Amino acid sequence: MDYPAIFSATLGLHHPWHIVSVTFGRDERRMDIRLDVFLGNLFTCPCCGKPTPPCGYEEETWFHEDFFGYATYLNARVPQLQCGTGILAADRPWSRTGSRFSRLLPNGAVVTALAAAELGPAGEVPVPRGTSESRSPASGQAMAIRRNC
Ligand SMILES: [Zn+2]
Repeated sequence: MDYPAIFSATLGLHHPWHIVSVTFGRDERRMDIRLDVFLGNLFTCPCCGKPTPPCGYEEETWFHEDFFGYATYLNARVPQLQCGTGILAADRPWSRTGSRFSRLLPNGAVVTALAAAELGPAGEVPVPRGTSESRSPASGQAMAIRRNC
């Protein structure tokens, strides 16, 4: 069975996203999927819609409690895009509306796909446009400048 092709279609992956590896832990009913992007591609800025080269990448981990019968951890290198003076993550195909994947943040917080689409690098929560400060979901402290387009 061509697991990468099946999982790629189910996750909604398209070029330049691709599956690097899929590993199963049959005893613990766990699956780990490693995703990456091919280098040298442009990504549509989720803020202004312009094709944009990545200015960096961030490792993200997403979780689904029952993906093909397995508790699934999806690990991805997500392109970061500069827009104005802010940095945004490129759209992640598996986090579209209705996705049951949740993002696991380094601080231990779990964020739904819909809410994760609004997070900046390292899980900052944006404030309304026209401002330049965002806040940590865990501490409520100001963390970073973000989104000014
Ligand atoms: Zn933009």
